Amino acid sequence: MTNNIYEIFGSMVFNDDVMREKLPSDVYETLEQTIIEGRDLNITVANAVANAMKDWAIEKGATHYTHWFQPMTGITAEKHDSFLSIQKNGRILMEFSGKELIKGEPDASSFPSGGLRATFEARGYTAWDPTSYAFIKDNILCIPTAFYSFSGEVLDKKTPLLRSTELVSREATRILRLFGDDTTRVVTPNVGAEQEYFLVDKEMYKKRRDLFFTGRTLFGAMAPKGQEMGDHYFGTIKPRVAEFMRELNEELWKLGVYAKTQHNEAAPAQHELAPIFSSANIATDHNQLTMELMKKIADKHGLACLLHEKPFEGVNGSGKHNNWSLSTAGGENLFRPGSHPEKNTRFLLFLCAVIQAVHEHQDLLRITVATAGNDRRLGGHEAPPAIVSIFLGSELTDILSSIKNGTEYRAANVADMETGVHVLPNIPADTTDRNRTSPFAFTGNKFEFRMVGSSMSVAEPNIILNTIIADALSQFADRLEKAEDFETEVYALMRESLKKHDCVIFNGNNYTEAWKKEAERRGLLNLETTVDALPHFSKAENIALFSKYNIFSKTEIVSRSEIMYDNYCMTMRIEANTELEMIRRDILPSAEAYAELLSRSAMSKKALGLDFMCDSGFETLKKILENTNALSESADRLESLLRESDGLCSSIKRAEMIRDSIIPEMENARRFADNLEILVARSYWPFPTYGDLLFGV
Ligand code: ADP
Ligand code: MG
Repeated sequence: MTNNIYEIFGSMVFNDDVMREKLPSDVYETLEQTIIEGRDLNITVANAVANAMKDWAIEKGATHYTHWFQPMTGITAEKHDSFLSIQKNGRILMEFSGKELIKGEPDASSFPSGGLRATFEARGYTAWDPTSYAFIKDNILCIPTAFYSFSGEVLDKKTPLLRSTELVSREATRILRLFGDDTTRVVTPNVGAEQEYFLVDKEMYKKRRDLFFTGRTLFGAMAPKGQEMGDHYFGTIKPRVAEFMRELNEELWKLGVYAKTQHNEAAPAQHELAPIFSSANIATDHNQLTMELMKKIADKHGLACLLHEKPFEGVNGSGKHNNWSLSTAGGENLFRPGSHPEKNTRFLLFLCAVIQAVHEHQDLLRITVATAGNDRRLGGHEAPPAIVSIFLGSELTDILSSIKNGTEYRAANVADMETGVHVLPNIPADTTDRNRTSPFAFTGNKFEFRMVGSSMSVAEPNIILNTIIADALSQFADRLEKAEDFETEVYALMRESLKKHDCVIFNGNNYTEAWKKEAERRGLLNLETTVDALPHFSKAENIALFSKYNIFSKTEIVSRSEIMYDNYCMTMRIEANTELEMIRRDILPSAEAYAELLSRSAMSKKALGLDFMCDSGFETLKKILENTNALSESADRLESLLRESDGLCSSIKRAEMIRDSIIPEMENARRFADNLEILVARSYWPFPTYGDLLFGV
């Protein structure tokens, strides 16, 4: 391994530099136009690119290629083909044609399609996405592709993301024209996805069947110490973790992923990695690679990486902060307020578009983060609640109020912050403090959507953000393009929009009960679980929105919602079955063995006439027996509920039953099991405890 980041960065990527070097200049230019402007690509160019790509890949040790795609499983898929072909004389040849580069045909029958694709017409196609560079991973040339069905229905996450990217670019450009910008042709949504994760010892992980099968602990009494001391957050990184992070960074850098920041998070054993932001498409691909490499490299270091949203009850869960902004090709950020935001009409208009979009489409934002795993995190320790609101900070909120009320804005006097120490500089105070509790916070020049779960692809959240904000911009542009007096109309429009939508702004503490009440008063949605959120997906206005902009057809929405229901049900079914298995085969036998020991000891004490001394042992025995009985009964109930739910033919009904009966019974059982953990001797307990897991690295 080399430590020279200049040498290794992007060394496994067929990026712009490599293309410029390896491709004939006319081919390079055509390809560049394709990448920047989304033009069609002809086969001659594709052949030249394919050949250069293959030669480069073989030089780097690759033998196979794959169309790398993102089916609805949430992870990436690949099927490897070698470059090998055989000539007439029996000699081998390494070949890769433009046709193979552009289009692939994996057998698609086993990927989720939500009923879109009957298995008898299982054909699926992958199509090259030239806007995300090809790269080499494990000696395989990976070509990022989109995935769709025989009849053209979308089966993946990349296609709608690319569609939404073009959409928001088009609508934002219309607004820019109104402000006299005649040159910008492309506006790009940028994304920086901060990734949280846990690292635990691999040997302990293997002893926990719940972690192994479900990614989270289904049992576990709280350790004597949790995160209350705050000593893990930003603390020194332990050597084994530091080694892991070093290798992770190097491998990510080779793939051109801009891994930048790393630190310990709030919970013990929790960490975070943040990349430098890039276009939404590339950031999404890179985040998938990041998650994949985290797991793989952890394994090499004797660790297990947990990406689940809530691996441990009682300490923080893991999220993925999705930082989002729009910029022109020239790199100008459209959400930069400047030093006088009150005079920056263009910024204020874009800001109003976001406020309107978030308020009108709270349901969609909630749905993009709806999974069984994330349901456990939202509203829990240090995670935003399921209510969508925007944090803007006092300065911007005041400016918007003055627009809404037609009053003059007066900036509050903000003096430099004095450090009170001569050697330290006085720092200009930020006008907006941070608000860590908000699900959707404006953080200076970007929005941070914090409801996204750690294990999710960021594709969906960004498909939704791009689409809903494009829709608001489109409504604004329709009106402003017809305006006789632009300046008057733009303020009238913002005033009207804010009157309807500024109730989504909330600068206070999102974790409180008071906010829940206040949100209800404001008419904001509080969709606590996935099952509450999903019915909103196929509402008429959402179908109309997605169809209008050709992001999803009605059939695609129905199928996606079916996949989400199925995922929810399957996840919970696996969890419930794992819980049953652990109760019956691990927890009850251990507790009973220990009870047996206690009762034998009580009996021998009695035989010796020492039964006056066995009070405490007797009490423990009694408590153990009470809890084993209750646990065993709860397991029986859970099993019959599961059987009943299996008999339901609609996944919606099944999901509702899971929410209303199965999850509560699982939690009930867990309570008895966790009571037992505290009563049973350590040497009898069948698996590592929270203390072992959280502090074991
Ligand atoms: P923090 O949230 O801890 O304050 P930063 O402000 O450094 O951290 O940014 C967090 C993430 O946001 C990083 O991935 C960063 O690259 C990304 N980011 C910064 N500016 C933008 C932007 N204009 N658009 C999208 N993402 C951005
Ligand atoms: Mg952040």
